[in-house]
Amino acid sequence: MSTYPDLHLYINGEWRNTANDLPVLNPATEEEVGRLPHAEKSDLDDALDAAEQGFEVWSHTAPIDRANVLYKAATIMRERQGEIATAITAEHGKPLNQARLEVIRGCEFIEWDAGEATRTYGRVIPSAPGVRYFVHHQPIGIVAAFSPWNFPMSQPCRKVAGAIASGCSIILKASEETPAGALHIARALHDAGLPPGVLNLVFGTPSDISDHLIGHDQVRLVAFTGSTAVGRHLTTLAAQHMTPVLMELGGHAPVIVCEDTDVQAAAISGAVRKMRNAGQVCTSPTRFFVHESIFDAYTETFVRRAAATVVGDGFDPDVEMGPLANDRRVEALTELVDDACERGAELRTGGSRIDGKGYFFQPTVLANVPDTARVMQEEPFGPLAIINPVSSLDEAIDKANSVPYGLAAYGFTNRADYVDRMIDGIEAGNVSINTLEASLPETPFGGVKSSGYGREGGTEGLHNYMITKNISHSLSIV
Ligand code: NAD
Repeated sequence: MSTYPDLHLYINGEWRNTANDLPVLNPATEEEVGRLPHAEKSDLDDALDAAEQGFEVWSHTAPIDRANVLYKAATIMRERQGEIATAITAEHGKPLNQARLEVIRGCEFIEWDAGEATRTYGRVIPSAPGVRYFVHHQPIGIVAAFSPWNFPMSQPCRKVAGAIASGCSIILKASEETPAGALHIARALHDAGLPPGVLNLVFGTPSDISDHLIGHDQVRLVAFTGSTAVGRHLTTLAAQHMTPVLMELGGHAPVIVCEDTDVQAAAISGAVRKMRNAGQVCTSPTRFFVHESIFDAYTETFVRRAAATVVGDGFDPDVEMGPLANDRRVEALTELVDDACERGAELRTGGSRIDGKGYFFQPTVLANVPDTARVMQEEPFGPLAIINPVSSLDEAIDKANSVPYGLAAYGFTNRADYVDRMIDGIEAGNVSINTLEASLPETPFGGVKSSGYGREGGTEGLHNYMITKNISHSLSIV
């Protein structure tokens, strides 16, 4: 792929290769698209030193100047969107138009946080005469961040933008399977004039990098997006150093479809959204709880639309869904489908790997899935929907809350009283009614329960990256 970039580490404002490089594969063809240098311990130590110097400079840079570098980088990435999207499709497999939308979304995340950089207001607390109390926010320090493979551009944008807007420096370990998005972010920020050391980008063996970075007291925040299991492990490591964490972890999103809704529109919207990014989205709608009076009609339309999804190489303009990102997902989905069917679930469409090259899996719908099936508790993270009937809203809310996760949840209804009960009753960081959108730059995004804590985006987004300092100033010595 001619527009796939040469891959490097980025440390102290310089591009770096190492003696050890490993292939990056196109999941649609299983062919090598590039080779990625993996960091040694000495590279990580250089990144820590650089980040320390970068923090010294950046934390003393005016918020408006930080914002302007971010705005400029976003403009550069918008100009390069075709080249970046091509690289993302080559390494991740998603359809090119979806990769392009992801680039734009990444720019929007950066632009939002750039604006927020100038609005991290403190406050003055009313006080007795002769004394002043005020609250002031300061950048927390060096951030060690880890971003996953499902959104190679927008996921690292979240962390890089949050840290840089707040005045922190950051060492980002982006995904080794999809490194090009993060590399393009570093390129754009470099070209926009970001001082050396403020952003450092490394790749390698994930556990070696997280063990090494989190073990250093200079690191003042660990920010991770990925599975709950890894998030729990990194949180444990960080706790040894009392380092705070920002954790965006797994989800198993419920969709409650009430009897009063437009059945056809809700079913088609559900089937289309489910297959976006081949279901590899932490907010992907997965457990559909549909009122029994509309269950048959809803399921029939959903299955028809899901089965009609055009699956193939993301460079084909007609394709709606690409391959899974790697072979691990194909195996995990096959096991979950087999287990559910053995326990009595109805396989309404799909259920298997698609023969031939690439990690393709059929759009899959299971109906009447028993609660004992593994997939009712484990996040499938793939193009798999579960549709089960419920007899009341209370039952649907109970089932929605019956998993350890609480990230996104969705409801379809026109009744205000139903909306109210869902807002109050569902345990999730994000509840969306009549839409399957859960995350925008201007809205706070994050989970409850095993889906993690902390928020990205919205006016809350920079809070994790800053400390709150209380100042007491008495005009005379007391
Ligand atoms: P995984 O649990 O092995 O890895 C998940 C992510 O964590 C990857 O990006 C990986 O590089 C990173 N990672 C793994 N071990 C690490 C360590 N010790 N230190 C730092 N980073 C580490 O699983 P996987 O097969 O890559 O992905 C599958 C699961 O991950 C899915 O079931 C899903 O739950 C989760 N996931 C979630 C998101 C999300 O947006 N929340 C994104 C990608 C993957």
